Amino acid sequence: MSNKQEFTISEETRRFLDSEHLLFINGDWVKSSSGELIPVIDPATEKKIADVQSGGSDDIDSAVKAARDALSGEWSKIPSHDRAQILHRLSDEIEANFLVLSELEVLDNGMPMELAQYSIASHGVTLLRYYASWAPKIHGKTIPVSPGGAMNGDSLTYTKREPIGVVGAIVPWNSPLIFAILKLAPALAAGCTLVLKPAELTPLTTLFFGHLIEKSGIPKGVVNIVTGLGESAGDALSKHNDVDKITFTGSTEVGKKIVSSSVGNLKKVTLELGGKSPVIVFDDADLEKTIPGVARACFFLQGQNCMAGTRVFVHEDVHDELVNGVKAMAESFQIGHGLIQTNDFGPLISEEQRKRVIKYIKQGISEGATLICGGNEVNEEGFFIEPTIFTDVTAEMTIAREEIFGPVLCIEKFGNESLEEIANRANQTTYGLSGSVWTSDISTGHKMAALIDSGQVSINCHAAVDSAIPFGGNKQSGWGREFGEEGLDSYLKTKATTVMY
Ligand code: NAD
Repeated sequence: MSNKQEFTISEETRRFLDSEHLLFINGDWVKSSSGELIPVIDPATEKKIADVQSGGSDDIDSAVKAARDALSGEWSKIPSHDRAQILHRLSDEIEANFLVLSELEVLDNGMPMELAQYSIASHGVTLLRYYASWAPKIHGKTIPVSPGGAMNGDSLTYTKREPIGVVGAIVPWNSPLIFAILKLAPALAAGCTLVLKPAELTPLTTLFFGHLIEKSGIPKGVVNIVTGLGESAGDALSKHNDVDKITFTGSTEVGKKIVSSSVGNLKKVTLELGGKSPVIVFDDADLEKTIPGVARACFFLQGQNCMAGTRVFVHEDVHDELVNGVKAMAESFQIGHGLIQTNDFGPLISEEQRKRVIKYIKQGISEGATLICGGNEVNEEGFFIEPTIFTDVTAEMTIAREEIFGPVLCIEKFGNESLEEIANRANQTTYGLSGSVWTSDISTGHKMAALIDSGQVSINCHAAVDSAIPFGGNKQSGWGREFGEEGLDSYLKTKATTVMY
């Protein structure tokens, strides 16, 4: 790890950090009703970089009321073509403030600068433009009715697609700005209004984004941002009886709580939850591409990534070559502060998360897996941990079953099992989010992809994420899909109208 943690930030980022961070409700920046604050820590230095408001149920009430009023106000009269222009303006604002947003994302979350810039450019900007282009294309259908049925005679039935209403969006810390935009862009394209609750660990880019929302001409109350703890602000939002839909990204454990909190008014719920995704490497895989692909699949964002490929199943004939190659890559990462451009491996988000990951590593060792590399904290400031690889992992081991959400790769071998037998092993998990197959045989690739029980499978790459590609989980990895047309659909409801004439 680089001993030097010296880096510089732009004047504008410094000014923003030093400013007072408030809640954004009904177009105004206000203090929380409790007056309590939450410190925001740079995970690479462990130093406090800001304080944000700890919003509670009163603040959520005000934000939901503002969103409800805005739903039937000026916003509802803005034609869909103009909603599209608003989303494009917001995207322009992101481009104009690219450096500040990237620096804040690194300081807040710990990710390397290159990754922050890549994700803001290729997901933040693109998602807004992608959903902007959907806004004017939202329309219903005309539907022929059955002859001789109750509507026999002259009738016309048509459907309209309407905004689902007031949306509560609860976002995790691992890619904070992108997840906020992933919820906001389709919601606004559909004509909804929303209350956004960022993760308490990473609220800064979303708050800065709030200032861009103000500039982009979105009417007041359409977007509200309430920072706060999950058990207070998040819970109040998911229980609120005047919220029509919750869109949640986070852990499966909290996802289950959200489901029970939503029963009061039977609000609609979409969930993007945890994962434990398989990576299957056949003996005919092109290892030159597979080795970096497997390393990135797990160690991207220090493994704090829902679609991380954390369970590798590799054919015994290429096992050692793959393990040695991935180990060499893991050991080549430059660990350190993300604002130092040469660093490509950041810290975990918090001390709590680091302790959790270390506990899993100890369990891996005690349950009999072979530690190939890593396993240690990096003893400098910041919540760093080495990229870690285990071989000889078996399905019963805790590290093979539970989502670690850290840089821990578990490798298992297979021999001459059938594709179905390999798939059975890969599918032996309560999750079903992502997965990948690495082979030179196109037929093996497609057959294996069909057998993996996940919302997304990639062949010769891992986690192909794009604005247009639906993404979401099977089993306990979630409900519904985000991205693409399906991601828009979940912010719309259908009204059927029949006229007899
Ligand atoms: P988390 O579930 O702890 O928190 C997510 C959000 O929920 C935060 O904003 C938090 O404040 C809020 N929250 C916490 N308790 C709540 C409650 N009782 N009621 C309402 N809201 C509450 O998750 P995290 O630690 O921020 O993120 C890591 C998890 O997210 C991992 O499991 C990861 O796999 C998952 N994740 C999934 C996806 C996906 O697309 N499937 C993407 C990113 C992260």
